This record gives sequence, structure tokens and C-alpha cells, in this order.
Amino acid sequence: MNLGLQRDRLKSVDSISLQIHSMSHSSADSSDSSNFIRDIIDADLASGKHARIVTRFPPEPNGYLHIGHAKSICLNFGIARDYGGDCNLRFDDTNPEKESVEYVNSIRRDVEWLGFHWHSNPFASDYFDQLYGYAVDLVKQGKAYVDSQSADEMRANRGTLKQPGVDSPNRNRGVEENMRLFEAMKNDEFADGEHVLRAKIDMQSPNINMRDPVLYRIRHVTHHNTGDKWCIYPLYDFTHGLSDAIEGVTHSLCTLEFEDHRPLYDWILDNLETPSRPEQTEFARLQLEYSLTSKRKLNQLVTGGHVDGWDDPRMLTISGMRRRGFTPESIVNFCDMIGVTKKDSTIEMGVLETSLRDNLNARAVRRMAVINPLKVIIENYPEDQEEVFSGANHPQNPDYGTREVPFSREIYIEREDFMEDAPRKFFRLSPGREVRLRFAYYITCKEVLRDEAGEIEALVCTYDPQSRGGSSPDGRKVKGTIHWVSAHHAVSATVNLYDRLFTSTNPGAAADFHQALNPESLVVMPEAKLEPAIELTDNAIAYQFERLGYFISDYGSTSDNPVFNRTMTLRDSWAKIEKSG
Ligand code: ATP
Ligand code: MG
Repeated sequence: MNLGLQRDRLKSVDSISLQIHSMSHSSADSSDSSNFIRDIIDADLASGKHARIVTRFPPEPNGYLHIGHAKSICLNFGIARDYGGDCNLRFDDTNPEKESVEYVNSIRRDVEWLGFHWHSNPFASDYFDQLYGYAVDLVKQGKAYVDSQSADEMRANRGTLKQPGVDSPNRNRGVEENMRLFEAMKNDEFADGEHVLRAKIDMQSPNINMRDPVLYRIRHVTHHNTGDKWCIYPLYDFTHGLSDAIEGVTHSLCTLEFEDHRPLYDWILDNLETPSRPEQTEFARLQLEYSLTSKRKLNQLVTGGHVDGWDDPRMLTISGMRRRGFTPESIVNFCDMIGVTKKDSTIEMGVLETSLRDNLNARAVRRMAVINPLKVIIENYPEDQEEVFSGANHPQNPDYGTREVPFSREIYIEREDFMEDAPRKFFRLSPGREVRLRFAYYITCKEVLRDEAGEIEALVCTYDPQSRGGSSPDGRKVKGTIHWVSAHHAVSATVNLYDRLFTSTNPGAAADFHQALNPESLVVMPEAKLEPAIELTDNAIAYQFERLGYFISDYGSTSDNPVFNRTMTLRDSWAKIEKSG
């Protein structure tokens, strides 16, 4: 059917769509989420230690950002915003094998979509010249040396948590020899793995990170930013603190697993003349039930074909959540709700879902759609008649206005809203029983039509013309109200129903997380019917399909081939299962 013509006859939704487009891109509200890090900052400002606060969010561009990164983004950018300081988006790109421009671009897009603005957006690789200079400085001070042990020897000599390490035979090389070798490493005179540069700290340290950590290694790989300029690359620990210092970061906030690296962070900065002296503070990673928050593991899902790319709507990547229909506000509010602490804990999925439902309930445009259709023929409704009901676009917000909902002799209802041998408390349609059609009339089921195979094909009903608008003059009580779509006016669409990607609360802990994949995480409904006043071609308008949940049109959805993603059901269907199970 011709959707264009259809649209012209019905009131356009353009005005609300404009309003909602702009809402979904506005930056999130600030909130006074106080936490122990803000206490530290308050004290540093009060004591005069810092006059201005600088933070950074430092992803490695080796994958797409996920919900765990959102916590760090909200923390770092939120602090800069609330204290009138700066937050840099810095790419910590020291592993060229794993990094790419695709990841760089996706990270920028995701941070912006969440509503945050960076002060500057450098690559740690922009500092490679400076970092090399710092390494030379350590060599000259006798605080770094070139080691020529094999990787296996180094590993063996590193010791364990219980056993101290063993000094390398190269540990006492002279400064001149170290300088000559380090320069030769840089000048492409060696193969990968022949030498490394190590800090000379303490092979007996109880902290393994302090046992002469490697600062530079040889890698003949092209870097996404520096190309083939370098064949030696600095390690993360060396790069990170110095990049912070170069940028004037005051508070370097990272997750708890870096607590044991802090002595090294401090050692490097204490032994070099840097433009500023940042301080590292750790906070707990976000762990969320039923999900993975590791780019490496998410990458395995993508490359293994278990999901439809990094932005698969079942993935808790920022891009997957966007495609699924999450709003930036729902993610930022979630991060506010969970707060920032020093202690690891796992957050219930319900917290994220509640934040999403609250936000969508307030903003979603109401529509009717039938995802598993059953035709209903209203035999006493005149064949050539059509009428239009007025439906509010939002029950609480009159600014959203109304739309016209067409009605005619043949409609679709949800198959689940009909039951042949219904129990007494089934308040939907069954033979001989009456039900209210939302906005429209009471109908009574008279007959069930079957195909040759005996499958129910359609229902024949009658309607009560007196019940227009949903009540009857004789005061007859009808308990159930069901949604429907006029068959003649309906737009056919595919609807994707999503469930959690994993069945286990902590898939990351499983020996093989693939075992925990939920085989029913995606159910495709190819025959859905939508009321005509629905925008089909972009991913910006959040809809509530009454009684079914929140939906958004998928990327690439067109009027020829509309596809909708269910963002979330209206209620938490898992809570019941968990309680009864
Ligand atoms: P992944 O294991 O997914 O690669 P990562 O920590 O190695 O995670 P980075 O790109 O290095 O990822 O992270 C950028 C920033 O985001 C870091 O400061 C890191 O501490 C923070 N971050 C990553 N995951 C989480 C999480 N689950 N909760 C809070 N912050 C996180
Ligand atoms: Mg990492």
C-alpha cells in the first residue's frame, strides 16, 4: 500500500518528531553525585594544591566502548563540568596491532552521543617523541637499561608473588652501552623481541610491577596514527602517567586493577622532570549482571559471529545500546544512580532497565502495533465505512498532541489476546465474550475461522455502535481492553524482540562465556502491523507500543522495509522468573 498517500490523510507527526529529535541529543542533566573522589578534589581545591581541575578519559582504541566505560566517562567529564575544569579524551594507543581508526571514530561518536564535550582529543602516540626523550633521560640517570634476555628468560626471572625476582645479567650495563643500544633499537637495527628497555627499580620488590618493568619494546607494526615512524613502542604504564603529566591532568582516575600500578606511576613521575604532577586515584569497575564488560571478550562475540557487529542491540556497547533505543539520559542517570566507590560490586540489570524505563516512559510517543497478528472481521460494521479516533501521543504530556487512529471493518489484534478455551479470569477475547478495543468500541467474538490445517485464521466479531469511545450507555462492564490496528491502514513491519544476551548473571566468570549465551536473545517477528502514524526511517524517535514495550526503528529501516527494535518491555519480566525460580 502507498504509505505516502496514507500519511497525507492522517495528521502528521512531524512536530513531535522534531521535539523528540532535539531532546535525544541534548546533554544530560547534571546532578550532585557526590563521592569520595569529589571529596578529594574539594580538599585539593581548598588547600590550594590545585586551582583548576583537569581530568581525562583514556580509552585504548582497540574496540567499541561499553557500559563500563560510560561510568568512567560520566565520572571524568562530570567532574570537569561541575568544577569548571577540563576533560580530555585521550586515546592511549600503545598497542598498534590491536588498534584502528574505526575504533577511534566510534569512541568519539559515543562520547559525544552521551552528551559530553572534550577539551582536547590527543593520542598518546602524539607524545612518542617526548616519551622517547623521557626514556633517554632515565637511561642517562642510570635508571633504565637495555635487557637482551629472551621473553622466556625474563618471565622466569621475574619471580612470583611468593618468590622475589632475579637480576638480569644485563642489569648493570653502563649508561653509554645502554644509550647506544636504545638508539639502535629506535633506528631499526634489531628484530622484534631482541631487546627491551627496562626501568631499574627493584627485582626483590613484593610488588611485581616494580620488578624492573619493561618501558619499551620493539614492534615492527604500522601504527594507525604514527604510521611506520616508530619500530619501538612504549608500554602502557610508562605512557600513561607521562601523558597525564604532559596534559596537566590533576586527577588521573582509573579502575581498581591499577592500584598495584600506582607505585610505578609515581616512580616514573618522581624520577623525571615533567610539566605537572598528576595523582592517580582508583575506583571500582562497573560490573553488570548478565553482561560482559571487556572489549576483548566483546570482540570475540563479534568476530565469532555470535552477534550482528559491535552495535548489535543485545550488546551493552554504547553503540549497541543506541541502536537498541537507549537514550543518553538513561545511561547517564544510571551512572549517577550507581555512584562511584572504592569497593567492587555487581549491579543488578534491573537498575539499568529501570533507569531506561523511567526515561522512556516520560518521553516515548504512544502508538498501537500488533506484533503477532490475528485478523478480526467485524461483521456488522459497514464494509465501505471508515472512521478516525483521536489518540493522545502521551498520556501525561498534552504538549505531545494527538494523532488520528483509523478504524475499519477488519482489524488485527494480538494472537495472545484471543483464547478459545479461556479460563474465567481471562479478560481478553474468547468465543462469546466481549472486550474493549482501545479508543474504539466493544466487540464480541462470534465465530472462529480456520484454515485447512485447522489453524485459527481469523475471528468474526460484532461491535456495539453505542460503545464508541470505550463505554456503553447501559453501563455494561467490560474488563479487558486490547490494542488493535486497522487492517486496511496497517503498515507491515519486522519487529526484533530482544532478551538478555546471556542466561548467567556473570558470564565473564564462566570457563567459556559462549556456554552462557541465551539462544532466545533475539526473536524476529516478520508480520507485525503498525498503525500508520509511525515514522519508519530513523533511529531517533522512541515509541511506546501500547502494552508491548518501547520500540525504535532500526538503522536502515525504510518505508519499503520497516524494522523496529524492541528497546525494553514495559515491566520487568525477569523479576518474576527469578523469584519463582
Ligand atoms: P577493556 O577490558 O574493556 O578493554 P579497559 O579498562 O582495558 O577495558 P580502556 O579502553 O583502557 O579499557 O578503558 C578506558 C577507561 O575506562 C579506563 O580509565 C578504564 O579504567 C575505564 N573502564 C573500562 N572498563 C570499565 C568499567 N567496567 N567500569 C569503569 N570504568 C571502566
Ligand atoms: Mg585495556
